Amino acid sequence: MSSNPSKFCYFFGIDPKSGQNLTEGNRNMKDLLGGKGANLSEMCNLGVPVPPGFTISTEANVLFNKHNNYASNIELEGETKVTKDQLPQQIIDEVNQYLTKLEQVAAKKFGSLQQEGDRVLLVSVRSGAAASMPGMMDTILNLGLCDDNLQLMISNFGGNERFVWDSYRNLIQMFGDVVMGVKYEKFEENIQKQKKKRGISLDIDLTLEEIKEIVQDHKETIREMTGEEFPQDTRQQMFKAIIAVFQSWSNKRAIHYRRIHNIRGLKGTAVNIQTMVFGNIDKRSCSGVSFSRNPSTGENKFYGEYLTQAQGEDVVSGVRTPEKIENLSIEFPQCYNELINISHKLEKHYKDIQDMEFTIEMNQLYMLQCRNGKKSAAAALQIYCDMLDENLITEQESILKIDASQLDQLLHKYLTDEEIQKHEPLARGLAASPGVAVGRIAFTSEQAIEMAKERKIRGDVILVRTETSPEDLAGMQMSQGFFTTNGGITSHAAVVARQNGKCCVSGCSALIVNEHEKTCTINGIDFKEGDIITISGSTGLVFNGALKMSEPTVTGGNFGRIMEIEKKYRTMGVYANADTTSDAKRALEFGAEGIGLCRTEHMFFEKTRIMDMRRMICATCDEKRQDAITKLKQYQKQDFIGLFNVMGDRKVTIRLLDPPLHEFLPHEEHEIEELANLLNEDIHIIKRRIEELTEKNPMLGHRGCRLGITLPKITQMQAEAIFEAAIESESEIVHVEIMIPLISSIQELRHQKEIIDRIAQRIISSSSSLSNKVKYRVGCMIETPRAALLADEIASISDFFSVGSNDLTQMTFGFSRDDAEKFLKDYIEMELTQNDPFQILDNEGVGQLIKMAVQKGRSVKPELTVGLCGEHGGEMNSVQFLHTCGLTYVSCSPFRIPIARIAACQQSILSAQKK
Ligand code: ADP
Ligand code: MG
Ligand code: MG
Repeated sequence: MSSNPSKFCYFFGIDPKSGQNLTEGNRNMKDLLGGKGANLSEMCNLGVPVPPGFTISTEANVLFNKHNNYASNIELEGETKVTKDQLPQQIIDEVNQYLTKLEQVAAKKFGSLQQEGDRVLLVSVRSGAAASMPGMMDTILNLGLCDDNLQLMISNFGGNERFVWDSYRNLIQMFGDVVMGVKYEKFEENIQKQKKKRGISLDIDLTLEEIKEIVQDHKETIREMTGEEFPQDTRQQMFKAIIAVFQSWSNKRAIHYRRIHNIRGLKGTAVNIQTMVFGNIDKRSCSGVSFSRNPSTGENKFYGEYLTQAQGEDVVSGVRTPEKIENLSIEFPQCYNELINISHKLEKHYKDIQDMEFTIEMNQLYMLQCRNGKKSAAAALQIYCDMLDENLITEQESILKIDASQLDQLLHKYLTDEEIQKHEPLARGLAASPGVAVGRIAFTSEQAIEMAKERKIRGDVILVRTETSPEDLAGMQMSQGFFTTNGGITSHAAVVARQNGKCCVSGCSALIVNEHEKTCTINGIDFKEGDIITISGSTGLVFNGALKMSEPTVTGGNFGRIMEIEKKYRTMGVYANADTTSDAKRALEFGAEGIGLCRTEHMFFEKTRIMDMRRMICATCDEKRQDAITKLKQYQKQDFIGLFNVMGDRKVTIRLLDPPLHEFLPHEEHEIEELANLLNEDIHIIKRRIEELTEKNPMLGHRGCRLGITLPKITQMQAEAIFEAAIESESEIVHVEIMIPLISSIQELRHQKEIIDRIAQRIISSSSSLSNKVKYRVGCMIETPRAALLADEIASISDFFSVGSNDLTQMTFGFSRDDAEKFLKDYIEMELTQNDPFQILDNEGVGQLIKMAVQKGRSVKPELTVGLCGEHGGEMNSVQFLHTCGLTYVSCSPFRIPIARIAACQQSILSAQKK
């Protein structure tokens, strides 16, 4: 990006006189124009009716920040920020120029000094960044109205005074809130005051006189709260609004939203200045939101809501419950058909479900926004399968379109029909986001956060509200489900739920919340804070108490179909981290090709086994140790037989004992005593042994291969258990990969490998039938930087590598895995790092070591298998990066396998396309 670009504004719209398309942008310019601006341009290019306007680019936001000293996010103690809150002259000049162009195209005039017969140009000022942030940045409507042009505007609209005054009221309160910082509730109070006077409940029933009074009250409120007047100079309105939008990029709500949605590295927001169209004129006007398909189920059925005689945010705010879109075909038949046609056109063009905002002004349809719709994972699969059948997309496109990170939603719990039949539902609302939640009621975001702290003991939390707003986000993150009185499927609660894979029931009029009393009634039954309910976002049903949830199954159906397609194109393997037979079974169900990591220590943590483990560690003589080891071997052997039986001839990678020994040791007095008794030792001797084993830095201490080197009996025992189990297993052929952890030199690996080979020799290699049945290889983990640096040397005696990305990240950064989150959250907040490197692989640093290990290893052994086990193996971005490193496979926990498979397959398709 040039630091001082010469162009900031981009026009969109068609000149009605010449029919010429004056649009300068298109869909590929999201970084510069924001998503909203780029799509407004694209719709104009497609000939869809869009009110003309222009977009001020994100680069203008950057320049604005620089101009006003907003740049730094480091605040020093005692420093007062001097900001001018001014637009650079360059931007002002260009906006003026584009406004003139807009006046010509719209054949209207902006400002107060106008002649009779002129038409008044009002605009909306809309924010929009490259990533969609629904409801996060504030829009101002009807900008350009002032005391001086009210009359002209009224005569423009055939004397419709009520409409114009109501639009003015709306402008003043939005402007007062967004630009002048007056709390929205203050304006709400002015409106309530008038309503109370007459005993009415709906805004729509206010008379002209009452609205005029509200306008006066609003102006007075602004004066009182700010000491300033609502600006009558319309250019001033515009420039102040633009500034407010630019600033809103940095407001708390927006920052919070970006943080929880991992939106980073964007320049800022664009601003769209667009000719107003009015959905609030009369009964022939409305505004609405619609989806080309159902975003909750994916069903190919037009979906949406609208409100007659309403403007903008009224629909999505959930304050009035809107009409179903089906009604539109009755009330506005022509516009309805046109809307359907546009919906088809946009879907064909974008090849995805469309989320569209529209307004009808006196039976004339205008499109105000389109974007690819946010949808649940199940809906996405339904949509892409349908689109395959409709020949709208190719198989490869169907895979590329899937948001892999969303797939674990499919693994959500549900209620069986039987279970539903057993219980009488309290009420039914809209099924706004699939899944089930059983939890305690919280009535506010703060309560939800508080109650969630006890989640482990007392169970999940369900946020129950009249409606939710962006202020509730923190509490929503901590809740498992949302239940609201107001709002449809496009309400804030529903959108947030679908995005986060939470369950949501909205629009349930049987729910009456009393936030102050911390109570609610559902269909007349009283509930208080902490009471337990069950909500099903898949059916919309709400139940008293806790229903039994069932585990999801993800075989067959759309998921099965997509996963069949996936198999055709993926070139990197996906294995599972599995320690038990039930893990292994689930892994196979999800499509794992083998086990990439079986952590043997997990087999020892069970109550009875840990005592033998402790006996082994604390034994004071070989005899006592041998006795414990014999026991441990029996356990391991049985477990391995189980695993081999499930996995058949697939590869099973078994890692030898890894954690610091002290993790197994007792700390409670009575436990130590019990151990002393078992070992027939004095308690002081045991205590001393425990002390000996205590380490300053256990993560860098006596662990990994260092255990097997100082206590070779452990390696020996594990190898015997593995080979004996392989022989005794039901499988005809067993492929076992024995993996040595935490290697940092070839000497360490050689030492361990010799022990294993010797035991193999004794148990299997002596008989040809056994060595035909049991195929084994010995390899090591690459999880210390030194192992990566010396990968060529190590590869000379290693049959395979498996990157241990958790430890490798820890040792490359020098960040403790156990404590890093304490400071990493600050790092992330200050954008010193983009991501937590323990969650998303650090491609630049740790990634470089991985690439090096692959290259060096294969320079010695071209066919060397290199896998990865660690959290990153199930994380979308990391998997895609690892694919480019040439890894043979990634291994992850069973529930993340679908994510890893799709992410890997996407990369396979992309790299095939590049060739
Ligand atoms: P958000 O990003 O929160 O969706 P928008 O900028 O889309 O905010 O504005 C919200 C709503 O305001 C739109 O859905 C639309 O109904 C209304 N709106 C915005 N611009 C105009 C306009 N030029 N004419 C009529 N209504 C508008
Ligand atoms: Mg919008
Ligand atoms: Mg490790």
